[in-house]
Amino acid sequence: MAFKLDKSAAAFAEAKQYIPGGVNSPVRSFRGVGGTPPFIAKAAGSRIYDIDGNSYIDYVGSWGPMILGHAHPEVTSELREALERGTSYGAPTLLETELARLITEAVPSMELVRFVNSGTEATMSVLRLARAYTKRSKIVKFAGCYHGHHDSLLVKAGSGALTLGVPDSPGVPESIAGNTLTVEYNDVKGLTQVFEQHGEDIAAVIIEPVPGNMGLVLPRSGYLDKVREITEGYGTLLIFDEVMSGFRVAYGGAQEVYNITPDLTCLGKVIGGGLPVGAYGGRRDIMEQIAPAGPVYQAGTLSGNPLAMTAGLATLRLLSETADFYEKLITMTAALCAGVQAQAESYGFKFQFHQAGTMFGLFFSEKPVYDYESAKKSDIAAFNVFFHAMLEQGVYLAPSQFEAAFMSGAHTHTDIGATIAASGNAFAKVA
Ligand code: PLP
Repeated sequence: MAFKLDKSAAAFAEAKQYIPGGVNSPVRSFRGVGGTPPFIAKAAGSRIYDIDGNSYIDYVGSWGPMILGHAHPEVTSELREALERGTSYGAPTLLETELARLITEAVPSMELVRFVNSGTEATMSVLRLARAYTKRSKIVKFAGCYHGHHDSLLVKAGSGALTLGVPDSPGVPESIAGNTLTVEYNDVKGLTQVFEQHGEDIAAVIIEPVPGNMGLVLPRSGYLDKVREITEGYGTLLIFDEVMSGFRVAYGGAQEVYNITPDLTCLGKVIGGGLPVGAYGGRRDIMEQIAPAGPVYQAGTLSGNPLAMTAGLATLRLLSETADFYEKLITMTAALCAGVQAQAESYGFKFQFHQAGTMFGLFFSEKPVYDYESAKKSDIAAFNVFFHAMLEQGVYLAPSQFEAAFMSGAHTHTDIGATIAASGNAFAKVA
């Protein structure tokens, strides 16, 4: 049967009448790759199903949260039970303490944890805390890293902002953006120079330790240690934004893999099991500055929502209690990467394939990709052809060269084989 998206196209046209661009998050619109985004009707295991009757092996996983696969029976069953107990109370629950406890055990640098509703809220709140604690104004971020859509961090931002060509969004006042200094990722010299100039004014360095928002980029050996050393030397707080890498590259996140202790950490995605959640946490003396323990204000009507906490708890329990969960998934991811790489080589493509735990990414670039500038040199037109060829064969990748891909515990060896075979046909189209 020929691949068709007629119903999705009609749904997209109607959505545009009521929603800006027809979507509630820009990259979903397929603006980067062109064409019609499939409108999704349901998801189960490793697959998503659109309203046109197509099914896809899904490597987006809702942009990272669905590490157990979609509609995992244990998560959905716990959610069903939780629903019966009411959807929100605006008062403390045992669930919040339990999830916070699991997080502090997995990520020991997070001595105290505050839950919010998104990754954006987590990074926004953590910056206020860092500024209050250090009594300094400036922050450093890295070009191509994305930390959500609030003003301080929409500067040389990755993800959808990069895909749509608005890494410095209109509407962000210069008075705010001026306090955000940017440095190239993996560039120790650049970071050192910024600190030599502004070190005494820098409250925090915020970094995706393994950036997944300019495509997947890996830290050079010793780079993160250097970032830790420099920040420590200037009394600047180091914030690891592990919204994506947390419980993804390993159960304890990138800080476990690279053995670095940041002062503060942001989480999201996996810890909500597919429901809206974010969290920030870190050193007790810093976190105790947050209201009501301290004077730094931050609050939320739905923060610590019982459904999100239930889905997060079920997810983390399954991740920690399933024997060798990460080892197996990382091996599967490596098999997929090797298979696709072999297909690429058989068609004469030289491109960059990166893997970090259960995440992977490919750049249509002959040269190594290690930062924003090198990522931007990728052949986007080639990626777009590859992307559509994969979609038509039932493989759903993120619709942008500047995003990572995610493996889940529900993906099977059959899925991997089918994906590798599809990639061969897709490379043939690009060639
Ligand atoms: N930080 C990182 C590293 C992210 O990847 C994202 C989202 O992709 C965010 C923050 C923002 O999270 P949210 O989309 O939940 O606001």
